[in-house]
Amino acid sequence: MDLKSDHTFWPTYSGLLRSYPSLQKDEICDVIILGGGISGALIANSLTEEGLDVVLLDKRDVATGSTSASTALLQYEIDLPLRELIEQIGREDAERAYWVCHESIDKLERLLTKLDGDAGFQRKKSVYLASTEEDVPDLEKEFGARQRAGIAVDLLSASDIASRFSFERPGAILSHQAAEVDSYRLAHLLLARAEKNSARIYDRSGMTCYDTSSGEVLVEVEGGWKVQAKHVVFATGYESVEYLPKSVVNLKSSYALVSEPLQHFDGWWDRALLWETARPYFYMRTTSDNRALFGGMDHPFRNPISRDALIPKKKKLLIKKFVELFPRIQLEVAYSWAGTFGETKDGLAYIGTFPKCPLCYFALGFGGNGITYSVVAAEMILDAILGRKNKDAHIFRFDR
Ligand SMILES: Cc1cc2nc3c(=O)[nH]c(=O)nc-3n(C[C@H](O)[C@H](O)[C@H](O)COP(=O)(O)OP(=O)(O)OC[C@H]3O[C@@H](n4cnc5c(N)ncnc54)[C@H](O)[C@@H]3O)c2cc1C
Repeated sequence: MDLKSDHTFWPTYSGLLRSYPSLQKDEICDVIILGGGISGALIANSLTEEGLDVVLLDKRDVATGSTSASTALLQYEIDLPLRELIEQIGREDAERAYWVCHESIDKLERLLTKLDGDAGFQRKKSVYLASTEEDVPDLEKEFGARQRAGIAVDLLSASDIASRFSFERPGAILSHQAAEVDSYRLAHLLLARAEKNSARIYDRSGMTCYDTSSGEVLVEVEGGWKVQAKHVVFATGYESVEYLPKSVVNLKSSYALVSEPLQHFDGWWDRALLWETARPYFYMRTTSDNRALFGGMDHPFRNPISRDALIPKKKKLLIKKFVELFPRIQLEVAYSWAGTFGETKDGLAYIGTFPKCPLCYFALGFGGNGITYSVVAAEMILDAILGRKNKDAHIFRFDR
């Protein structure tokens, strides 16, 4: 599957940060990780930190899948509002799901202190705007649900919003836990650390087939090389649908733009992360080099050609939306792109094994906050491989 259009921002801006060799011999290890995006990179880190012997294989160059197309807002809030998630899975698990994502931002920040470089991580506030007056009663209920869960949130009135921003909205929830990052750099920094901790990383080394019938994992790689291991982790992003026995994700096309560096952010309070109650939603952030980065306008995914053909139209709509919100900001678009994106029935990731394949672990952070899910997956998969109980694992299991 072609995961994205050309010229996504992060790799264009930073260039190819590192090229790993392709696999040219057979290998034996404890764990094979398939995929070197943000999920595979985080998992490689957590496993090697615990002393496991890891081989990571990517069929492309690492970090050039969805991770390179991401707008990389880090939010604890998943696509489904907490009050709706409570209706679907019950209060205890729903609140825990929100808290697991909340904690993952702190965990990522701690991990960043161990990395050898800057991944553009900045703590932010997040503002969830009511798109219309009709959305306000539900927004207030959502605020109540989050408060009951113990999450630090404020309810902003129309006048609170007007005093902070250059636009009007009838209400909003302000969250104090959020951040932004450069997902491409982050994946590279994590991989470099995993390599230091002895992971062997191979680019352009796609798995062609795998077999677990002997009680061990045997992965065959392009070129005919074989890797043998006790476990295999599929961190293969949206292409994982090819390896799953059941359909768990609804694929969409999503669109994003980044501006040239801006002179000022007049009317954009605290350069907060912004998103809204309308679906599909529009969302925005800024970058450490003073750009606006925004996206949305999701569309059902049919194929990469029709996805990319819509870029000019979606770009116009996204610009119109930005200008309506920030009329005082002079916007010059630098890059626009499209990416394939997935949603699940409850907005939750799928993390763990299938009963039929106990040696295979999946890290499928489908949803708007895929990166926070990748952090969650790295911890849960480590626990599963080490045979440790994880009290939250059932929330993300496949047979829910
Ligand atoms: C436009 C857009 C905006 C987004 N915005 C946000 C956001 O604001 N916040 C957020 O948290 N998330 C966001 N996401 C989602 C987030 O980017 C993804 O959840 C995340 O990047 C997925 O990372 P990954 O490592 O799981 O997948 P990927 O980055 O796609 O990595 C998977 C890797 O697996 C490799 N692979 C596949 N098959 C094989 C095989 N057979 N053998 C070996 N390797 C294989 C691929 O080459 C690829 O490199 C966004 C996504 C898009 C497209």
